[in-house]
Amino acid sequence: MSKGKGNRRLVVIGGVAAGMSAAARARRLDPDLEIVAYERSGYVSYGSCGLPYLISLVVPEPEDLVVRTPEQFGKQGIETHTHHEVTSIDVSQQTVKVKDLDEGREFTVPYERLVVATGGVAVEPPMPGTDLEGVFSLRTVEDGIEVNRFLAENSPRRAVVIGAGYIGVEVAESFVERGLETTLLSRPAQVLAGFDPDMAIKMQTELERNGVKVSVDDTAQGIEGDSTGRVRAVVSSQGVYEADIVMIAAGVRAESGLAKEAGIELGTKGTIAVDEGMRTNVPGVFAAGDCAETYHLLLGEPSYLPLGTTANKQGRVAGTNAAGGNATFGGVVGTTITKAFGLGIAVTGLTEKKAGELGRPHATVTIEHGTRAHYYPSPGRIHIKLVWDPDTGTLLGAQIAGPVLEAKRIDLFAAAVHHGMTIEELQGLDLSYAPPFAPVWDPILVAARVAMKE
Ligand code: FAD
Repeated sequence: MSKGKGNRRLVVIGGVAAGMSAAARARRLDPDLEIVAYERSGYVSYGSCGLPYLISLVVPEPEDLVVRTPEQFGKQGIETHTHHEVTSIDVSQQTVKVKDLDEGREFTVPYERLVVATGGVAVEPPMPGTDLEGVFSLRTVEDGIEVNRFLAENSPRRAVVIGAGYIGVEVAESFVERGLETTLLSRPAQVLAGFDPDMAIKMQTELERNGVKVSVDDTAQGIEGDSTGRVRAVVSSQGVYEADIVMIAAGVRAESGLAKEAGIELGTKGTIAVDEGMRTNVPGVFAAGDCAETYHLLLGEPSYLPLGTTANKQGRVAGTNAAGGNATFGGVVGTTITKAFGLGIAVTGLTEKKAGELGRPHATVTIEHGTRAHYYPSPGRIHIKLVWDPDTGTLLGAQIAGPVLEAKRIDLFAAAVHHGMTIEELQGLDLSYAPPFAPVWDPILVAARVAMKE
């Protein structure tokens, strides 16, 4: 580590979306601040979101996922160390203990400001066999490299994906692209539990149409190996699935152990509790990204929605404030999008299911509509489901399923939900039109108009 400039040092723990956004932002605001980032893995500033596409080979090389290398950060005056793990934080002394994982040596680094951006870890379901050869989870670039190495060296034929959230769905598609007979197990009675069942079924149908065997309401209970310690089968509540490779995609939890041991307050679902400036309860210590809680504008409370978009924004806020600025994170409405094969699917705000669970008055409508002028060649039809408050007309949420790029229309609904628009206001929006892009009445306007009639 370079010599400190007095006590003006910002230490960042974790070098991906949140951590490096914070470091870059702090550098921009304060050219004199010493900034040091420690990352346990061998890569920094990479797009984990691209990992399924590394497996499918849409992304040819692991390095393609990297936005900026440690050398590039170095040129910006951000000292970035890979294979360095922060093993403890002493908030009273304002120091972190760091282990150089290559050399094995440990040292202590004082900080004036600290950004904890330790991210999330893949949830490992409590069942036997998760440590067998050929069983993977997907979180880091190294995980992606290991999966591809296993595929190249062992030419597996049958894959089982445990968990049918968006990562499970994307990995199932990637395995099919690599020629594997793929089974996708979903513990809930639907894939993509964050959607309403009537929308999620469209993804299930698309997966099945493309050869994925989907089994819902089916809980993995154990993984069996052969005499050499290599995976052989997944045992579930509904049967036994032979497998040469298994991907566990059972969710993400916040990696907040380091913060907890240091006495930093935790919030919802084991995340690090933060205020709107990404400040923890300890002065000078910030947290951002998948390790931190996220304020949900519709729920009116902190929630856990670990997403890359949020991590980048929260990192930027943490970096601004760590450099002495004053920024706030505006909260989320729960917008996500994914695709498999020819179907894109997206959600924002409350689903019908969630509104019901919360006891919120709600009405719903679903429309199916063309995405271009009727005479213009179209990639297909789109389904839009709206959820709104029948008393006030306020839009509470929307879901879209349709041709891959059409699902991106969700962003307009995200803006509408974010700003509390009514379906009447939505119906009157001046949206763009030309035949190659949309019908005269965009499906968004049609959905709002149909909702108005209800
Ligand atoms: P992370 O990316 O988890 O990075 C945290 C880093 O901290 C890790 O590299 C870890 O090694 C390091 N670290 C942890 N503890 C220590 C320590 N003690 N010392 C040093 N280093 C440490 N989001 C979307 O919005 N859209 C998508 O399409 C999407 N797709 C995804 C697909 C996959 C397969 C995965 C895994 C995630 C996807 N996400 C997506 C989520 C998104 O990648 C995460 O929200 C984002 O990476 C979070 O960034 P982060 O910096 O908070 O945490």
